[in-house]
Amino acid sequence: MSGGAAFRRLRLLHIATFATWALICAHSASTGTTPKRCPRPDIDCFNAAFTSTASSPLHAATDATAADRKFLPLSSNAASDAVLSGGVATPTPTPTTTTAWSWKSYHSHPEMLDFLSELVSSSDGACSLEWPSPSSVEGRRIVAVVWSAVNGSSDSPSGLPKPSFTWVGNMHGDETANRELLLRLAWGLCSGELAAADGRWRELQASTLVRIVPTMNPDGTDPPPPNLAMAATLQGAPRFPAAVSWTLVGGSLNMQPEANAISSYLSYAVPDLSANLHGGALVANYPLDACDSLGARRSCPTGDEPLPELLASAYAAAHPSMALGNATPFVSGTVQGAAWYPVLGSLQDWVYHVLGRLHITLELHPVKNPPAASLPPLWEANRRAMLRLMELARMGLRARVVDAVTRGPLAANVSVASPAGVRGTTADAERGGYFFKPMAPGVKYEFVVQPYDPSNPNLSYDEISFSVALSVRREVVISGAYRMRELTVERVLMAFRSNATASVRK
Ligand SMILES: [Zn+2]
Repeated sequence: MSGGAAFRRLRLLHIATFATWALICAHSASTGTTPKRCPRPDIDCFNAAFTSTASSPLHAATDATAADRKFLPLSSNAASDAVLSGGVATPTPTPTTTTAWSWKSYHSHPEMLDFLSELVSSSDGACSLEWPSPSSVEGRRIVAVVWSAVNGSSDSPSGLPKPSFTWVGNMHGDETANRELLLRLAWGLCSGELAAADGRWRELQASTLVRIVPTMNPDGTDPPPPNLAMAATLQGAPRFPAAVSWTLVGGSLNMQPEANAISSYLSYAVPDLSANLHGGALVANYPLDACDSLGARRSCPTGDEPLPELLASAYAAAHPSMALGNATPFVSGTVQGAAWYPVLGSLQDWVYHVLGRLHITLELHPVKNPPAASLPPLWEANRRAMLRLMELARMGLRARVVDAVTRGPLAANVSVASPAGVRGTTADAERGGYFFKPMAPGVKYEFVVQPYDPSNPNLSYDEISFSVALSVRREVVISGAYRMRELTVERVLMAFRSNATASVRK
């Protein structure tokens, strides 16, 4: 590490620590509570310059990535504005692998890379690797495991991309156990162990694309046990650009490479739902982490209520003890981030504001770096909750917008009104006109879709308006007693050209 780099990172630590504890102390003074939590100084009190590399965030693209983004044409019997099936395909045969799993010790970074490489190569095509770029400050590569159906398309029979879920672990280098949980999850998925044992895992495999980034902060963890000095120094690394254009105190500060790699990767392969993992507490933390530019407000709506809290509650309810957490400000093992401690520029707020998707922050182990012997029960406590959350990646409207005449995919601006507010999203012509709007059970959503053809701006299309509500009940989602198809409404939206409406509709 160069002297300049050391100075820069120490400066980050100083800045982040100061701002974080200023907010924590303000909270403690106002509430009389003692903070007991994973310190998350991934705050951004500065105008962080975000250089998007979304067009090429990987060191090397893989077939899985390409398949995920391809466009499958409509089937000949696709009906206008038709409600399709739940998009759940027939369970697929499970692969086998010779790669063994052992809880005996934590993986060093080289051991992790070797393990994943061997796991993928023996997964019979179930898994592949992607490499978010750039590497860490110390030059360690950040790796992602991609899991999908064996010998299957990444897309559903309806032509919609599969629902996708992304896990991001080990944001803070000294919170190590969650990294091992994600490696265990990767092994269970890629080896076929989980699918062989449970039909719900098979259904997930057939219907959902899962990406796992076991560590986004390898410098803070390698070699095990964690290099605590390095872990502390890198606490400032996982900062994300402020989600909105706030007037921020201080000067300008560039993001560190780890944050750049993850934000670029998530922009490139936008997950329908995602989560990042921590240790130091036991709670499911949901957006928003910051209600204003200074962290003064301690509660605020997102415009998607009650969905963020519902996702956190679903995880907590599937965990054997998380939902027992009711110490203020926790409610049944959940908390809105800002109510716990405000974080400016957090990952989950960035995903919500910039990518327009939901992301929650899971604190899974009160001891940040527990002995390896405690990892098996930790896995048992979380694996069902992990499955539950991944299943909910499909909860909402999944749709594609196409030209009614040519069936070609279109882009669109989509406005969605619910009792909680109005949210916008966009349909992506390069992904077959696909858009996804997460929805909460029992809430009526009013959609207004304005299609356009990015390759031909002279064409104009009629606006498409409709309303949708999921019939599944909240209690059923919390309990996990749903069928996956109940969580999804899929539609193909036919866009009629404004200047040819009469002839097309005859
Ligand atoms: Zn943490």
